[in-house]
Amino acid sequence: MDNNAKKQAVVIGGGIVGACCAWSLQRDGHQVTLVDPAQPGDSTAKWSCGQMAVSEIVPLSKPGIIKKIPSWLCDSTGPLALRPSAVASLTPWFLRFIACARPARVEQIAGELASLTRHVYTDYAPLIEASEAKTGRKLFREHGVIEVFDSAADLEAERVHFDVRRRHGFEVEEMNAEAIAEAEPALAGRFRHGLRLGDWKAVSDTEGFIQAMTQSVLDMGGERITAPVRAIDTQGGRAIGVTLEGGQKLAADTVVVAAGNGSRHFFETLGVRIPLMGITGYQALLPRPGVEFNHSIIYANGGFCLAPMTRGLQIGGTIEFAAADAKPNYKRADIILDKARALVPELDDSGFEYGVGRRPFLPDTKPVIDRCRKLPNVLMAFGHGQLGLTLGATTGRLIAELARGAAPSQDLTPFSAYRF
Ligand SMILES: Cc1cc2nc3c(=O)[nH]c(=O)nc-3n(C[C@H](O)[C@H](O)[C@H](O)COP(=O)(O)OP(=O)(O)OC[C@H]3O[C@@H](n4cnc5c(N)ncnc54)[C@H](O)[C@@H]3O)c2cc1C
Repeated sequence: MDNNAKKQAVVIGGGIVGACCAWSLQRDGHQVTLVDPAQPGDSTAKWSCGQMAVSEIVPLSKPGIIKKIPSWLCDSTGPLALRPSAVASLTPWFLRFIACARPARVEQIAGELASLTRHVYTDYAPLIEASEAKTGRKLFREHGVIEVFDSAADLEAERVHFDVRRRHGFEVEEMNAEAIAEAEPALAGRFRHGLRLGDWKAVSDTEGFIQAMTQSVLDMGGERITAPVRAIDTQGGRAIGVTLEGGQKLAADTVVVAAGNGSRHFFETLGVRIPLMGITGYQALLPRPGVEFNHSIIYANGGFCLAPMTRGLQIGGTIEFAAADAKPNYKRADIILDKARALVPELDDSGFEYGVGRRPFLPDTKPVIDRCRKLPNVLMAFGHGQLGLTLGATTGRLIAELARGAAPSQDLTPFSAYRF
C-alpha cells in the first residue's frame, strides 16, 4: 500500500491481538511501533488453552449456564468463583450478561461471532508461516478437540448449542465410548459420551508464537517499545500520537488500542462507556505429565481443558470474578488439578507450575473492532474474552482495513464500541 508507506501507526498493547494488528499494519505499509510494558509473549494468551476455537460461537451467557450459576457459586470446588471485591463492578456487567441469554439473542450473537471465526485459518495462514519460519518449529497442532461428558443427559443439554454450531457450517461429530477410546487411549473406559470438534486446531506454544510474530514485525521494519502508554494525545479532533508513562511522546497517524483489560481507560474521557470485565482463568502446567493426549480434551462437567502443549500438559479453565488488582488465588488451579488427577490417576504432576490470565470480556462475548467516533484515527481492538487467540489474525486484518480508510470487507456494526 504505497499511500500508507510513510504512515506511522502506534499499537497500544502487544498481546495476541496487538501483535496481530501490528503485523497486519506493518505488512500493509505502515511504520508500526508496538508499545507494551510486558515482554513479548508474556500476556494473557501465554496461559490460554491455545485453541483455535472456531465454533465457540455460542456466547458465554447461554441459558444453560445461567441456570447453573447459583449451584456453582455454592460449591467451593465448582467452575465459577466470585470474590467479594468484584461484586460492585460485576453487578451492572452481569445484568447486561443475563440480557444476552435469551435464545434469539444467543442465536444472533452466534451468527455474528461466526462471521469472524469462519475467516480464522485464512487470516492466520501468513502469520503462522512467518512465525514457524522464524522459529524453525511447528507451532500449530492440527488435531481438533474432543469434548467429553459424564452422562447422556449432559450431552443432550448441549445439543441445542451444537446444533447452532452445525447450522453455521462447523463440524460436530458425536462420539461413543469406543470412538473416544480409539481417539484418546488415556480416556478409555472413562467416558461414553463425547463430541469431536474437528475444525478446531491449536497453538502448541502460545508464548513462542507471539514472540515470533512480534519478531516478524520487527524484521519487516517495525519497532517495539517496552513501556506503558499513559494517554492518547489529541489535536483538532484527531489523535496525533501517544504519551508514554515516562513522558516520552510518539507521533502517530493511526493509534490502535489493543490493550486487553487495559483498553477501557483510554475511552473514558471520550465518553465511550465500555463494560469490559477481566475474568480470571487458571492453569496448572505439568511439564512431564507421563500420559499422552492426542487431542485437547474439554471435560464439560469438570469445567476444564487438558491441552497438550510444547512445554507440557496444561490443565486450565475456571471462571473467577475478582477485582482488577486482586492477587491470584491459585487454589482455583489446585481444584482443577485435583479433578484432573481423579479423572486420570496416572498423571505425574511433579514440578507443576501455576499460570493465570484475565480474559477481557464484554457481556455479550463479542469483541470491539471499531473506529473511535470522536477520534476517527483511533482504532479499537479489544474485549475478545475467551476467543482472543482464535480471533487475533482476523481482528488484525480488519483493523488494517479500517486503517486504510476504505469500507471494511464485512459489516462491523455487531462489534461496535457504541453498542452498550
Ligand atoms: C485460562 C484461559 C484459557 C483461554 N483459552 C483460550 C483458547 O483456548 N482460545 C482462545 O482463543 N482464547 C483463549 N483464552 C482467551 C485469550 O487468552 C484472550 O482472549 C487473549 O489473550 C486476549 O488478548 P489481548 O491481546 O486482547 O489481551 P492481552 O493478552 O491481555 O494483552 C494486552 C496487552 O496490553 C498491555 N497493556 C495494557 N495496558 C497498557 C498500556 N496502558 N500501555 C501499553 N500496553 C498496555 C498488557 O501489558 C498486555 O500485554 C483463554 C484465556 C484464559 C485466561
